[in-house]
Amino acid sequence: MEVIKTICPFCGVGCGLDLYVENNFIIRSSPSREHILSGGHVCGKGAIASEVTYAWDRLLYPLKRVKDTFIRVTWDVAIKEISSKLKEIKEKYGPESIAFYGGCQNTLEEVYSFMKLARGLGTNNIDSCARVCHEPSAMALKEAVGIGASSVAVSEILNAKNVVIAGESITESHPVISQYLVEAKRKGTKIIVIDPRVTGTAKLADMHLQINSRSDIYLFNAVANYLISNGLFDREFVVNRIENFDEFVRFIKGFTIEEAEKVTGVSKDKIIEFAKIISSKPTIFSWGLGLTQTTGVNAVKAYINLALITGNIGIEGAGLLVYRGQSNVQGSGDIAKPNVFPNGPMTEDNAKELSKVWGFLPPLKEGLSITEAFFGNKIRAMFLMNYNPAQSLPNRNRVISFLKSLDLLVVMDPFMTETAKYAHYVLPTPLWVEKEGSVTNLDRLVKWRFKAVDSPGEVKSELWIIKRIAEELGLNGFHDDPKIVFKEMKEVVRLYSNLTLDEIMDYSSNSRYPNHETVMYKERFLTPSGKAKLSLVGFDKLQGEGLILITGRNVTRYNSDELIKRIPGYSSFSSNLYINPIDAESLSIEEGEMVKVISKCGMAIFRARISNEVKPGHVFAYMHDPYVNNVVCDDFDEISKTPRYKATVVKIEKLRHK
Ligand code: SF4
Repeated sequence: MEVIKTICPFCGVGCGLDLYVENNFIIRSSPSREHILSGGHVCGKGAIASEVTYAWDRLLYPLKRVKDTFIRVTWDVAIKEISSKLKEIKEKYGPESIAFYGGCQNTLEEVYSFMKLARGLGTNNIDSCARVCHEPSAMALKEAVGIGASSVAVSEILNAKNVVIAGESITESHPVISQYLVEAKRKGTKIIVIDPRVTGTAKLADMHLQINSRSDIYLFNAVANYLISNGLFDREFVVNRIENFDEFVRFIKGFTIEEAEKVTGVSKDKIIEFAKIISSKPTIFSWGLGLTQTTGVNAVKAYINLALITGNIGIEGAGLLVYRGQSNVQGSGDIAKPNVFPNGPMTEDNAKELSKVWGFLPPLKEGLSITEAFFGNKIRAMFLMNYNPAQSLPNRNRVISFLKSLDLLVVMDPFMTETAKYAHYVLPTPLWVEKEGSVTNLDRLVKWRFKAVDSPGEVKSELWIIKRIAEELGLNGFHDDPKIVFKEMKEVVRLYSNLTLDEIMDYSSNSRYPNHETVMYKERFLTPSGKAKLSLVGFDKLQGEGLILITGRNVTRYNSDELIKRIPGYSSFSSNLYINPIDAESLSIEEGEMVKVISKCGMAIFRARISNEVKPGHVFAYMHDPYVNNVVCDDFDEISKTPRYKATVVKIEKLRHK
C-alpha cells in the first residue's frame, strides 16, 4: 500500500492528509503528522474528503449542449469548437467581451495558466472567487503594510497574550485552528470575539462583543480614539514605523465611546475593557468574512489601524491573521486579478517583462472583476474553472439569467453543478486526489498536493485543457506538467520567487512566502516608504428598514456543498432561519414554522428556528443553503466589488403550513 500526501480540499487552513492507496483505489485517509501547521489534526470534513472521489455522478467525458440537452462529444471536437467560437466572439465583439473566472480550489499552476490564457487572448477579464470573500482584506493589507496576506502564522496564536477574532466562527469555518485557540486559552491567552451572533467561537471566548451588523467601523474608530486619547498606544512604534500618525489623530477625534455604545449595542464599559486588553502585547488581530462581506475594505482598514497604533505587529505572538475560506484562495488572489499583472502593476514595463516569458504582450486595459462581469452587460463569452456562481453569487435569479444570455459558456468541473447546467460545453476535470500542484493556505504556507489515483473515464486535467485551447488559438508556451508551470510561475510572481519545489513538497518545512517568515514586518513594512499607513475611514449606517439577514458557515458543510453532499452519510439539511425570540414574538412566528424571507431582489422559504444566539433585529441563515442567494442582493462594497452577503435587509412573513 502506498501513502500519498495531499492537502485537504476544503478550508484555507490547508491541513495535511495521508491517503492510503492500493491498486489505484483510496482505501482510507489519516491526518498527516508531519504537516507543519495541522500536525496530525484534521476536522470531520477533511477526514472524509477523499470519499467524494467515488461519487456516482462524476462527469466522465466532454458534453455539448444541443437545444435543451447535452450530448457526448470527443475532446477533439470540444476543443476545436470552443476555440473557434472564442475566435469568432473575439472578432465580433472584441477580446474584452470574453471572461475567465475560477473557483479557489484550483492549484497555483492552474490559476497561473488560466490567467495567462486570458491575457494571451487579449483580455484582462480574469479573476477568482477570492473577489467575493477576502479581496477587501487583500486590498486593505496591501495599502497598510505592503502585501495582501496574513502577517503572522497560525502557530503564533500559542505565543499571543490576546487573540481578537472579528467576524468569523473558527469552530465552524476553520476547525483545526480552534485547537490552537483551545491550547492557547489553556495557557492563559485571552480570546475576544466580535460578532453579532453567539457563535461556537463566542462561547469559547473570554469576551464577546455582540455588535450590531455593520457597526464595526464605528467601534474600531472609537476604540482607536480612546487608545490615543488615554495614552494607551505604542509611542515608539507610531513614531518610527507609521507614516501618517498625526493626520490619523486629527481624523479620529470625532469617534466617541458614548456614540459607539449606541451604534454597536455593546456597553461603554465593555468597549473600554476591550480597548485596554488590546493595548497590551502581544495581540493577534484576526478576522473573517463578517468584516469583508459586510463593510468591506474600510472595515478591514479600520481594524488594522488598531494593530498598528498598539504596535501589535512585527513581534512574536502579534500581527494580522486572515481566515481565508478555501484551500487556495490566497494563492488565487495573488496571481489572477483583472487590474494587476502577476508581476506587479499593469505598466508597460511589466507587460514587456511578461512578454519575454510568455512570448506575447498582455493587454494594458484593466479588466472586469467577477462581480462587474456578472452584474454588467459587457460579456458575451465566459470560461469558468471549477466555479459555481449560479449558486454562490448573490441575486441568483439575475446570475442565472446572465448565464443563459451568454453566446458561449464553458464550464470545467468534475460534476454537473448548478452552473454547468447552463453551459454550452461542460469539460470534465479531475478531483484534487487525481492531479498534482501547489496551493497557498491562509498563513502564506505553500504546499504541493500529490496525485493519489487516476481519473475515471475521459477526464482531462485543467492544465491539459488550457494548453490544448491555447494551441488552437495559436498560443505557444503552455504546459500540462505542473512542475514546469510552477517554475515559470515562480519566475513571474515575485512573492513566490524564494520557494523551491523540494521545500513545498516537504510537509514539515516552513515553505511560507515571501521569506519563510512566521512573523513578518519585524523591521520594515513592504510599502513603498517602508512604513505602515493608517487609514482614515468614515462610517455609514445601513440603509433600509427590516431585519438584517446574516449568513455564515456550518461545520459539517462547505460552500455550495457540491463536494460534501456527494459523500456517503451526508444527509441533506433543511433550510433554517434563526430568529431571536423577541422578533419571533412580534411577528407571531413559532418554532418550526415555515416563513418567507423577502428582500428587494428575491424571496426564499425557510423553517424558523427561535434562537437566543441571534441578536434582536437580525436573522441568520447558512450560506450553504441552496436558495439563500435568492434573497442576498447584488449590493457591493464600492472599493473591492465584494458582495455584502452578510447584511441584507429582509422582511419575514408567515406561511400557513407548519
Ligand atoms: Fe480541511 Fe479546514 Fe478541516 Fe483542515 S480545518 S481538515 S483544511 S476543512
